[in-house]
Amino acid sequence: MKVELKKLESYEGIAVKALLDSGATGLFIDTTFAKEKEFKMERIKNPLLVKNVDGTVNVGGAITYQVECNMFFKGHVERVKMDVYNLGKIEVILGMPWLAAHNPEIDWEKREVKMTRYLPICGKKKQEEEKKKKVKRIKKDKDKKILKRLMPKRFWK
Ligand SMILES: [Zn+2]
Repeated sequence: MKVELKKLESYEGIAVKALLDSGATGLFIDTTFAKEKEFKMERIKNPLLVKNVDGTVNVGGAITYQVECNMFFKGHVERVKMDVYNLGKIEVILGMPWLAAHNPEIDWEKREVKMTRYLPICGKKKQEEEKKKKVKRIKKDKDKKILKRLMPKRFWK
């Protein structure tokens, strides 16, 4: 699926093909791709060893760098930290933690991904929820005023 990445220090959007992979344990960006697009890489304090499915250490070695950026997808925006790793021809992998947190609606037949479910950890949806809450509260206050006008004082709480 296509996502857009923006470096924290720039407004320029970079179109990226991201792979949804329920077998991956995190968020990854390809080393060569990250270098080519000049993403700022931050060294990780405790490097992570990458293991294969059978438990052996992957020849790609350890993950020592991370890239932090903003990711845009179908009206959804979030700040992500991706581990830099050699992914070959794949540019970005969104693994199980991301899938579980977003629980996207996937139409396997049409090969379509929809962000229709509530997203507790991410920026935009959360802000919208907050706005809705505010509107509700204001309405309630208005209701109270109307009630006060209509009801005798002894019924006020
Ligand atoms: Zn998100």
